[in-house]
Amino acid sequence: MHIGIVGAGQLGQMMAQAGAPLNIDFTFLDPATAPCAAPYGALLTADWNDADALKALTASADVVTFEFENVSPRALEQLSSHRPAFPPATALETSRDRLHEKSLFASLDIPLPPIARVDNQRDLEQAVAKVGLPAVLKTRTLGYDGKGQKVLRSEQDIAGTFEELGSVPLILEGFVDFDHEVSVIAVRGRDGETRFWDLSENEHRAGILHCAIPRQQHPFRQDAFRYAGQVMDALDYVGVMAFEFFVTSEGLIANEIAPRVHNSGHWSIEGAQTSQFENHVRAVAGLPLGTTDLITPCAMLNIIGAMPSADALLAIPGVRLHDYNKAPRPGRKIGHVTVLAQNNDELKTRIDLVENALTNDLGVS
Ligand code: AMP
Repeated sequence: MHIGIVGAGQLGQMMAQAGAPLNIDFTFLDPATAPCAAPYGALLTADWNDADALKALTASADVVTFEFENVSPRALEQLSSHRPAFPPATALETSRDRLHEKSLFASLDIPLPPIARVDNQRDLEQAVAKVGLPAVLKTRTLGYDGKGQKVLRSEQDIAGTFEELGSVPLILEGFVDFDHEVSVIAVRGRDGETRFWDLSENEHRAGILHCAIPRQQHPFRQDAFRYAGQVMDALDYVGVMAFEFFVTSEGLIANEIAPRVHNSGHWSIEGAQTSQFENHVRAVAGLPLGTTDLITPCAMLNIIGAMPSADALLAIPGVRLHDYNKAPRPGRKIGHVTVLAQNNDELKTRIDLVENALTNDLGVS
């Protein structure tokens, strides 16, 4: 079995690491000359949407997948006429546009914040009247890690804001006064079987995921599984999908989906019986899915902007280090740590030790 992956960053790297014991080979397509997944397979160096390179990727592989959502759905559709390509182009199309994504949630009766479409400054004024303040104004496409967003708190924040965000299609969302954020990582096989990992409680700093902790006991676990299952069925999804929610006293409010393996599921590499990466590979390859049960209490912490001393990290019991071999840059994810423990008290102590060893540079003062 040979899998082609559009993108060769750390997500592709970890997919290939998971596929290696299954004797699955990989070819990556990426514009970077030495992307971090390169040592784990063959590399085609070209733009992600380069038609010839996509053809070559397809020719080399039995099935094609991708590690990030900014690949063009049209290019993916073309690919899938030659070889199976998963997740399907419709999932990509839906998730890359926040308005389409939220319309899908609404059609499935999944709770979401009030929203309004904004195509110009006048729309913005009407949208604020509809949604109210505070609210979050977001670009419909190409936003990630909190980029392309602005929180509007008062009437003074409205003037000139359409231009400030680049005069591109926007969506205004009501500000959700949440208690914490969770995500559910889910997988759907080619035969429609679905499996879910425990909910991950996620802490962000400066809009970037800092820490993710699986919670076996969560009051809204079944809701999250149901919503993720509904979305995957509606999209006839194949592969791993992440669904992020705000948790309020009333229940879950949907934020967004990612049609791929996700940073908040990295703890599953050591912490679950089958990782998100292995199950993604299994799903797209048409293999049976593995069990997703948690093995032991664990947490994932991101290494951002600066690589700390490996000695300091590895001296902490239960620590597993993933250094992606990426050049450090403020705000860039260059590795992560999984911390494993026997119980929640021990986990908390070990997380504190890891926090002290990290030298993260988020790129904000
Ligand atoms: P996103 O790129 O949509 O995931 O947004 C990045 C982060 O901004 C989220 O993880 C939240 O912490 C915050 N955020 C986004 N949308 C909202 C909202 N409607 N209400 C409150 N906080 C939000």
